[in-house]
Amino acid sequence: MIQQSNSTRERSTTALSVPSGAAQANPSVNVRFGLPLVGGTNPATLREGTTPGSFALTPDIGGALMFASPDTPGMPVPSTKTAWDFLPEGWTLHKVSRCQGAKVSSQTSLDASGSGRLSAASAEFTTSRGERLYVTYPSGFVPVTQLEHARLGIITAQMSRVAEREPHLSPEQVRDEVAAGRMIIPANKVHLGYRLDAMCIGRASKTKVNANMGMSPVASSIEEELEKLFWAEKWGADTVMDLSTGGGAIGLDECREAIIRNSSVPIGTVPIYSMIIGRKIEDLTPEVILAEIEHQARQGVDYFTIHAGVRRAHLKHVKNRLIGIVSRGGSILAKWILTHGRENPMYDLWDDICAIMRRYDVSFSIGDGLRPGGLADATDNAQLNELETIGELTERAWRKGVQVMVEGPGHVPFDQIEFNMKIERRLCHGAPFYVLGPLVTDMFPGYDHITSCIGATAAAYHGAAMLCYVTPKEHLGLPKKDDVKQGCIAYRIAAHAADVALGIPHTRDRDDALTKARAALNWEKHFELSFDPDVARAYHDEDLDVDTDFCAMCGHDWCSVRISKEIQEFASGKADGFERMGGAGHDKPGAPRKTDALTSEQQAILAQRGVLSPQEIHALASKTRTAVGAEKGHKASCHSDYVDPDAAARVQEERLVQLNTAPAHNVPSHDPVI
Ligand code: SF4
Repeated sequence: MIQQSNSTRERSTTALSVPSGAAQANPSVNVRFGLPLVGGTNPATLREGTTPGSFALTPDIGGALMFASPDTPGMPVPSTKTAWDFLPEGWTLHKVSRCQGAKVSSQTSLDASGSGRLSAASAEFTTSRGERLYVTYPSGFVPVTQLEHARLGIITAQMSRVAEREPHLSPEQVRDEVAAGRMIIPANKVHLGYRLDAMCIGRASKTKVNANMGMSPVASSIEEELEKLFWAEKWGADTVMDLSTGGGAIGLDECREAIIRNSSVPIGTVPIYSMIIGRKIEDLTPEVILAEIEHQARQGVDYFTIHAGVRRAHLKHVKNRLIGIVSRGGSILAKWILTHGRENPMYDLWDDICAIMRRYDVSFSIGDGLRPGGLADATDNAQLNELETIGELTERAWRKGVQVMVEGPGHVPFDQIEFNMKIERRLCHGAPFYVLGPLVTDMFPGYDHITSCIGATAAAYHGAAMLCYVTPKEHLGLPKKDDVKQGCIAYRIAAHAADVALGIPHTRDRDDALTKARAALNWEKHFELSFDPDVARAYHDEDLDVDTDFCAMCGHDWCSVRISKEIQEFASGKADGFERMGGAGHDKPGAPRKTDALTSEQQAILAQRGVLSPQEIHALASKTRTAVGAEKGHKASCHSDYVDPDAAARVQEERLVQLNTAPAHNVPSHDPVI
């Protein structure tokens, strides 16, 4: 343990002074060493049930900061512009007057024929911040995209659905964030006709997670990809990207169609992959590009990754990189540019691509074709020059009424992550940032879901709105079903950790409930509240198949949670509704209860771990173990009501796994301390 000198302690006391009002907002704040509570005025100030968001800024929904971390000195400040500054030709915006607290009253209306044609060439409405806006637009204009509806003050069914799924946001706030370009609702009109459940991506909402899948030329099938799709949805993916490159043109098309028809989450693709099936990269023409984009839009794809930011002038910056261009789309387009000696066709065709995407309300995920593929290449000229171009493309897409998010790196040292998030916020005017990881180290292949979710947590805290998962197979092969699960869970952890730190209201509720269940030693509730109950239950029962006042980690005598719970002066372990109900009928407060037999999923988890023999797993599945004497109608001999030190010691020694960690610390196994 590091000892502080007296003088250091004194300096700390001064440095950690509490702003006035913070201690009142949270009576548990220690006035000498309390958190600074920068976000102390946010809607989640109460300690009960949610997070104070201590170090994050006060939320600014409807403003440039939304949920944001404080800027480290030197960080780029947010852009003062939004999508309102990039209206289509013939549109104007006037701020009428400020009308605090007024309700939305859009003056737009649809004609009686139901054609969607607007009866007037102006719309007036009040924003969620009480600002009265007057918008004019060319007569006869028909809104198609979520962005266009938002600009007219219209709250679509999808915006209302998003507000239901993000309880801290009102439908008006969702509309305003979409209108500002800081939030997208990727919902192709065709996909809305199938099973799509509208969601949003933006830093005013909870952090989202994307899972990639798709057939490669050497592995997988449509059935396998559909199985992965359902698996990704089960494990919390908010969107899925079909990155298929195998199966031939027909197989690719069928796979995409099947995924779109079966998914409840938005589907993204990289259309250039299909464009070069059966064709040399050099033979790509504008006609092929536009035809494929139209085809996939008609199929119902919700967002397209288009690498239009890779410009001819940027390629000279790639020369000195350790690993060149690692984006598939980026490398294909770079080859095309160099072969033809011309500008990136995606850049040249941008307005035509926008026109197609607007018709179906496909959102852009503007690709970062020059993202770094290793730490050494991070934040270099190639990457930053491309990002500037992406800012320009964002503005142009907004002028065409198309929703935009922006893709980001990749591989970034931990200390550069905040800068990377905040430079995007500035150059792309707050358009949602969708980042791949980033990996914060390159030397752990096989564990890149971990190296990257460390970076992803920092990225989300500093501004990324969606995290593209990385699986253990990253850089090594095509992810299988279990890799998809591992990647999804790693990224749900990253997203949730960032949301808690940002102080998004109610994001900590489940953590706090689980803590109460854990304190009460209520194992059933503990597992119910955990993200993966099967794993939690199986791991617990691997050592001890009775829910009682300790687990195999420390054993009865050393269980601090049990001891705390027994101290009457402590609130710990005594939250209402969290006490374990045990006994034979599961109706005796605090009594131990024999756990249910392991399910087949839980057995499989233990079999994969290889700790228990098949016979032992079978015994757990059929409940023949009587580890702590919790026979029908009897409490376990080790339960705190029956403290019998000899019995507890015997159970611990005989029934539990080896708890002595001395060998792991290279000390004699009889060491009395360990
Ligand atoms: S035995 Fe240890 S790990 Fe298990 S509940 Fe008690 S304190 Fe927690």
